[in-house]
Amino acid sequence: MKGIVTSIAMFLASAVYAQDTRPLARDDAAVADWFIVPPSIQAIAQSRRPERRTPAVRAAAAEQSEALAQGAVCGDIALQGDRIGTHAGPGACGVEDAVRLRSVSGVLLSTPAIIDCTTARALRTWLDDGLLPAVGSEGGGVASIRVVAHYACRARNNVAGARLSEHASGRAIDIAGIGLRDGQEITVLTGWNSNDDSQQLRRMWRAACGPFGTVLGPQANQLHRDHFHFDTARYRSGSYCR
Ligand SMILES: [Zn+2]
Repeated sequence: MKGIVTSIAMFLASAVYAQDTRPLARDDAAVADWFIVPPSIQAIAQSRRPERRTPAVRAAAAEQSEALAQGAVCGDIALQGDRIGTHAGPGACGVEDAVRLRSVSGVLLSTPAIIDCTTARALRTWLDDGLLPAVGSEGGGVASIRVVAHYACRARNNVAGARLSEHASGRAIDIAGIGLRDGQEITVLTGWNSNDDSQQLRRMWRAACGPFGTVLGPQANQLHRDHFHFDTARYRSGSYCR
């Protein structure tokens, strides 16, 4: 009798176990997004089968999340880089509470960008809600973004005597292309009017309007035919997007 009860209990337990294959909760999915961890370790570490989480896997996962926490800037583990404090520039140029941002939600910046935290957070919002959904799994998904300008002590549109650009205070970033995991790149220059990438690029551009105060692309003017300019200047009339 005791044997039968045990068998029934084991059967029920395994049945419950087998059913425990529901998709990851929203939070787990968000965590998975920014983890730069080999998928196998990541998958096992998050597996709901405890016997697969060996002490070594647990230790590796803990070590990696600790490393991420150490590299986090602006109080957000999805923003990886270095805090650099005041980045002094000549004259009115310079950035207060600047960071050197290396990656956002696991997506590498082609060159570390010196920007402030408001701009770093806006970049994350655009990336998570605009860029990543627009690209989806094409080319294996987004690996990097090609940053062609960040902090720079210069006037608007490089015109001497014009007002200082938002780049001069670390509130702007220029992006010329999206690197995919298979090595291909979606570029603003060739993609904006191409059959292949036009829709995705326009979707990305539109999604930046809101998180950023100024959004410029190829439709704005000739100067922006090959890149998006995003900045966090705020206007009383709302975002300016062209
Ligand atoms: Zn710019």
